[in-house]
Amino acid sequence: MPLGKNTLKLEGKQMDALKIGFIGLGNMGAPMAANLAKAGCVVTGFDTAVSAAEGVTIAASATEAARDADVVITMLPNGDILRRVAADILPAMPQGALLLDCSTVDVESARAVADEAKDGGQLFVDAPVSGGIGGAAGGTLTFMAGGTEQAFAKAQPLFDIMGQKAVHCGDAGAGQAAKICNNMILGATMIATCEAFALADKLGLDRQKMFDVVSTSSGYSWSMNAYCPAPGVGPQSPADNGYTPGFAAELMLKDLGLSQQAAEAVDADTPMGARALELYRQFVEEEAGEGKDFSAMLPRFAKRGRA
Ligand code: NAD
Repeated sequence: MPLGKNTLKLEGKQMDALKIGFIGLGNMGAPMAANLAKAGCVVTGFDTAVSAAEGVTIAASATEAARDADVVITMLPNGDILRRVAADILPAMPQGALLLDCSTVDVESARAVADEAKDGGQLFVDAPVSGGIGGAAGGTLTFMAGGTEQAFAKAQPLFDIMGQKAVHCGDAGAGQAAKICNNMILGATMIATCEAFALADKLGLDRQKMFDVVSTSSGYSWSMNAYCPAPGVGPQSPADNGYTPGFAAELMLKDLGLSQQAAEAVDADTPMGARALELYRQFVEEEAGEGKDFSAMLPRFAKRGRA
């Protein structure tokens, strides 16, 4: 359980004395930074495109945002950008400061940045999130973290502010590994759920009846029970809102790409993940799926035949 925002301390310091640099103030980063500011942290932010976030002082560069920070949080699009930003800011960060990367990136980049931080005398935690933009705004994200015990302990009070749960998964890179394995399962089960609904339609089976059976039988999953892709069936989900994300199909495509990149690197056989990647690639790049929720695979399947 979260400790409560007003009672948090970091290594003896009151939270309101904590200086945070926040790099990447996009859809996720801006509300996360705003929650830290609201909890009393002094937040200095930088983004190459965004020039405001609630309660955050905007710096002229990433290095300026990172200088003197106790913790620098990054929330960036990919591993290449993370590596570039880390190379810029680590030399400016104080000894013993923590670089907390919450972006979803490849495992290799997370480990490379962890090594660089170690060489420079800083701590590093990779802590990708689940919970999306709603979770970022509401401070209810789940963090999957990789790093040393010491680094994780230093990040914990911030996890308590920005999220509701943090799992220490292992050494650096373990957070990214957990995230891409989870999302590989999610992509494959969403596709399986959608194709089963499309088959049920063609067999004349009512969608509500299909939900009633599957959600309480062995085919149940988070995709069916909590995020049902059929409009008007099950709990409220993006399907009830014209498939407005939610979790966009292109973000699922990104995560499936990362899981296949990792699978290739360690010679893991992941045929379902590979097929899910190909289907989401086709959906996003060739079938106008970009900008739709990842559960919009259901109308995609529903209008197709076997060919
Ligand atoms: P976003 O594109 O809205 O934000 C990324 C921000 O990084 C942008 O504002 C961009 O201008 C900034 N940026 C790019 N290069 C930069 C640089 N060199 N220096 C400073 N800023 C730079 O993306 P987002 O939706 O906020 O996602 C951020 C990360 O979180 C991604 O890795 C994504 O995969 C992950 N994620 C997103 C969601 C979601 O629902 N949006 C959910 C889970 C995880």
